Formats: sequence, structure tokens, C-alpha cells
Amino acid sequence: MTHQFPGLSPEQKKELSDIAQRIVAPGKGILAADESTGTMGKRLQKIKVENTEETRRIFRDILFSSDPSIANSIGGVIFFHETLYQKSDSGKLFPQVVKEKGIVVGIKVDKGTAGLNGTDEETTTQGLDGLSERCAQYKKDGCDFAKWRCVLKISHGCPSALAIAENANVLARYASICQQNGLVPIVEPEILPDGEHDLKRCQYATEKVLAAVYKALNDHHVYLEGTLLKPNMVTAGHSCTKKYTPEDVALATVTTLRRTVPAAVPGICFLSGGQSEEEASLNLNAMNQVPLHRPWKLTFSYGRALQASALAAWVGKDANKKAAQEAFCTRAKINGLASKGEYKPATPASQAAMQSLYTASYVY
Ligand code: 13P
Repeated sequence: MTHQFPGLSPEQKKELSDIAQRIVAPGKGILAADESTGTMGKRLQKIKVENTEETRRIFRDILFSSDPSIANSIGGVIFFHETLYQKSDSGKLFPQVVKEKGIVVGIKVDKGTAGLNGTDEETTTQGLDGLSERCAQYKKDGCDFAKWRCVLKISHGCPSALAIAENANVLARYASICQQNGLVPIVEPEILPDGEHDLKRCQYATEKVLAAVYKALNDHHVYLEGTLLKPNMVTAGHSCTKKYTPEDVALATVTTLRRTVPAAVPGICFLSGGQSEEEASLNLNAMNQVPLHRPWKLTFSYGRALQASALAAWVGKDANKKAAQEAFCTRAKINGLASKGEYKPATPASQAAMQSLYTASYVY
């Protein structure tokens, strides 16, 4: 069998691989700011701010117009459709604001989950219809990467073989379409932390899911050098009574990734999955200290764990804008260090940074 029908030209491959490398350059990770309108509403409700197009714009402006030094630790920002076409107080479109700092612009392209009938409430993710046209438009509008989130869960009999196969296939199909349109696909098969399961159980499920994802990506001729993986860390379930250290989590996660993720993948950018800001940083730091060879970058693509302190500092008040930006920059810097295994917590973390950000059956 030969590779008779190459899907991408050498130039297309080079562009994709260059984009991926820029996003996960040493010390850098991703800010996931692509919460849907509904999810953003829940965040704003917690700080008693009304959920309007304008309040969502104001908060995102705070993040995106932070000090330019933020680009030392943030290589990419994932946008939600609405935000891509909003402007900063300075009058510039947000993608322009972010690009001027040297940060790569990304876009969430999935359309949420849908139930898989006949399963224990498992899901697949929708959004393939018209995806190629949407990707082409997003590329024109300044995006260079995309995100698509699939969701799996651990419970008796889950993740099922059907959920694993279906989600792996849809991720591969999405990745292939993105690459044709010059977008680096972030492949996200998130296994939710809901449940009482222990670390080993999560490791087993994560290995099965990732192995299926990489088989599907290969079947669909996806160019791995031009992709990024966004997985869950291997952790015990949220309700597990046994507690594990960051070193336990790190060893289980790195072991899983070494068994399943090809060395051609440039970077693995974890989601924070309801961990507190500090926990997410300590776990990432420990991964980058595991004494095992790691052929890919291990970094962050956090939503909640990069924004919680900033939201708490802001509480919707103009006067707190600077404090919110400082809180965001502090977390970004800490995670940048953690992505190199260089984070040494000096002072105890703030109250906001220690707070669990867990929500059951999390919808993004
Ligand atoms: P959290 O870091 O809040 O889990 O979200 C990241 C994300 O982008 C999930 O798709």
C-alpha cells in the first residue's frame, strides 16, 4: 500500500507544523477563552454580573489587553465565535489585539454534544456539517487553529466501545477538515472527572480512548505534526475517597501518554477539568519533572484554571480591571513555569486559586 493520494502539500504541512510549534514554544500554553454564552453566564452569575454581550466583551477585553509580557507564557488563545468579531475598548478587533502580542488565534468549531441512543447517556459531538466552509472563513478572519471537544465519562460500562469509536472518528474527521483549511486542530477527547473511580481506572480508560483516537487520526490521514492534543490529566474521580499527590497524577498521566501518543505530536495541552488553579499548576509542574522521556511538550490549555482568580478580582467593576489582569498574568506565568517543570510555589496560593472549580457533567 502506498500513499497515492496525498491530502496536504509540503507547504501546507510546513504551515501547520509551524503554527503548532509556535503555540507550544518553550514556556507557553493556551488560554481557553471559548466558553459558550451559557457557560459564560454561569461564571458571571457567580460574581453577580449580568450575562450580556457587553459584559462578556468587557471580561474578555481584560484578558486580551493584559500586559504584552503575557505572550511569554501564552502561545495561543481559543475564541468563541461571538468574541472573534468583538472589539477591544481600543477599537481593535480582538484577534488583532491578540496577534499584535505575537499570540496565535484559535476558534472553537464544534457545536456541542448530542446523545448516543441506547447508551448510558453517553454522547458524541456535532458540527461536521458545513465545517469546511466555516474553517475557510475563520482562516480568512485570522484564525490559525481550532478546537473540538468530545466528552466521555467513566462509570459502570463507560466509556463504551461505541462512545470510544464514535468520538475517535468524529475527532479525526474534524482534524482532517481543519488541516485542509490551514487550521491546526486541537484534538480534545475529554474524560470527565465525575465519579468515584480511582487513578488506575482513569488511566485504563484514558489509554483506551487515546489509543482509539490515534488509530482514527491515522486512518483519516491526519498529519500529526500539525495537530495538538488536549486531554484530561489522569486523575481519580472527583468523589474518590483515596487522595493522590501531584507526583501520582503526573506518573499515571505521563505513563498513559507515552503508551498512546505518537512522538510526532508536538504538544499536549491539558484541560484543567475543574481542578483549582493551584492544583492544575502543581500537577502540570510534576508532569514536567517525571523522570521518563517525554517526546512532546506538556503544557496547559486551561479555561477555568486561568480565569478564576481574574473573575474573582474583577467582580464586574471597572476599577478592578488592573487587579484582574494581574491575577490572570500571575496564573499564566505560573503555568508557563510549570510547563517547564520550574514552578516553585513560594508563598501560599490565594483563596481564589485554591478553590475547586468542579461542576458535575461539565458543559463547555
Ligand atoms: P477547563 O480548563 O475549564 O477544563 O476547560 C478547558 C477547555 O477548553 C475545555 O474544552
